[in-house]
Amino acid sequence: MAKKETLFLTRTEALEAICRDFRQYDPQIMLFCQIIRLISGGDIVAKREGQKNGAWISLPGRGNMRWMDGVEMVEYLCESLESDLSVSLVASICARVFQTRASVTMDSATGQEGINIETGIEDFVCRQCGQCCSTLDYQREVIEEDVELWQELGRKDILRWVGVFTGESDKKSYKIWMTPGTTELAEGCPFLKRISSENRSVCLIQDVKPGICRQYPSSRKHAVMTGCPGFKRDL
Ligand code: SF4
Ligand code: SF4
Repeated sequence: MAKKETLFLTRTEALEAICRDFRQYDPQIMLFCQIIRLISGGDIVAKREGQKNGAWISLPGRGNMRWMDGVEMVEYLCESLESDLSVSLVASICARVFQTRASVTMDSATGQEGINIETGIEDFVCRQCGQCCSTLDYQREVIEEDVELWQELGRKDILRWVGVFTGESDKKSYKIWMTPGTTELAEGCPFLKRISSENRSVCLIQDVKPGICRQYPSSRKHAVMTGCPGFKRDL
């Protein structure tokens, strides 16, 4: 059996990661209701209403239930997470939020208590469906290191698709992929090749593709939330 890859987060890092997750996607109302119940020990009731973007919440000592929309729920939860939650409760929240296993542990190097989160990356197999390349917003994510690498390798074939912009203090920023000789974004990635006979798509610059592409998906949850079918096994 493949060794489980884990990520160690301190309690503070885990709470930051949870709030980042809450803000990164469309409001995850069902998850928010579960977390509200969990952190209040069942004292706060959160009820969904159909598929609506929000929930009815009964806050202690506030009389009737009140409606919170998804954005309010995110802010309410992130504020509540700042209270004095135990590490084991934070681990339980991590397990639900990141859809993986999480447990309390001690960092062997520092002796600090924290949370081990299974990344699940050993279960990931790219299906070469090309979904990420055609639908994700990677266009503003190219970074200087990507561009420097292509320059070092003399990859003019890639660089001609990179838009270079000079801002204040001559600071450069980059955008991919721009139709060469124009200021227009290309329609899709020019390095994505569909092989219809094999029902798969390949990246023509696989070895030197931008960091944003190399890092996708960053987790099982990220894959699930953005439509990547690369994690086939359920927990
Ligand atoms: S969506 Fe996932 S499985 Fe499909 S090409 Fe991208 S990384 Fe691979
Ligand atoms: S560079 Fe490669 S991995 Fe990135 S979007 Fe294009 S085809 Fe996909």
